[in-house]
Amino acid sequence: MATASAGHHPQPGDRIDLHTHSEVSDGTDTPTQLVAAAAQAGLSTIALTDHDTFAGIAEALAAGSVYGVQVLAGVEISTELNGISVHLLGYGADPEEPGLAAALEQLRRSRADRTPQMLAALAALGMPIDPEILRVEVGESPSVGRPHIADAMIKHGYVTDRGAAFDGYLAVGGPAYVPRFHTPLRQAVDLVHKAGGVAVIAHPWSRQSWQVLDERALFWLARDHRLDGIEVDHHDHSVQTRAELRRIAGRVGLLATGSSDYHGTGKVDHDLGSNTTSAAVLTEILARIS
Ligand code: AMP
Ligand code: FE
Ligand code: FE
Ligand code: ZN
Repeated sequence: MATASAGHHPQPGDRIDLHTHSEVSDGTDTPTQLVAAAAQAGLSTIALTDHDTFAGIAEALAAGSVYGVQVLAGVEISTELNGISVHLLGYGADPEEPGLAAALEQLRRSRADRTPQMLAALAALGMPIDPEILRVEVGESPSVGRPHIADAMIKHGYVTDRGAAFDGYLAVGGPAYVPRFHTPLRQAVDLVHKAGGVAVIAHPWSRQSWQVLDERALFWLARDHRLDGIEVDHHDHSVQTRAELRRIAGRVGLLATGSSDYHGTGKVDHDLGSNTTSAAVLTEILARIS
């Protein structure tokens, strides 16, 4: 399978968004709706980076040709460093490379396995979830996540939005939280490279991941695992955090990307193109895909 729709060379002034989700994971647009929305938003290039699955890529690539948007095949891999969750973006990786495919399969299985435990915890808290309601929220997604459970809680009227579901119950340490397997970060970087892809750490200083991704850790990841980049411009990063991450990227030799982490109506203030990547950085990412 192609990993990017061809025919476009990044130009200065292009609007490029390299981290988006569809309903194939925890976004709310179909891949086609996502690409149509990207065209509407004036984006020249997007990467579809669903959690732990490539299942939406073929549809997104086809829609890219229809709507005149360059689509880069991507994935956002659930990894951990020292037990702390770190999200790794893989661009242009071959979905059929056996090592990467097996790792993603293991992640999806672990997602499915922990779902009943989270539902049991919610039931014990007086919030039983109708399996049919959850089934509708998950839809065709092979990568069931807490946002689907949050959406089922909303349908039941237990909470008003995903944020409240996470803050009250589903976030790490919350009363209905159940951990699941995460691929060790260094191994995931190596798997992306083995599949011919480019590895960029998503929102490195959001939530807990700032605890394990200091400059020293990023230096060693770049040196020993050829980590390619970090996402600097992201909704979860303050102006000061972005400035500090940009300095670190420069010192350590990492590409600095920016993206919206769009989830459709699943996340507010993550509109397509709300953060973007420069044409020069996209050119370098495309050059590194083998
Ligand atoms: P899971 O995939 O089950 O580990 O759930 C994590 C996903 O939930 C993240 O990738 C986000 O898309 C989403 N998420 C995490 N925290 C929040 C929050 N506070 N509000 C809404 N969505 C969240
Ligand atoms: Fe998500
Ligand atoms: Fe993420
Ligand atoms: Zn994401």
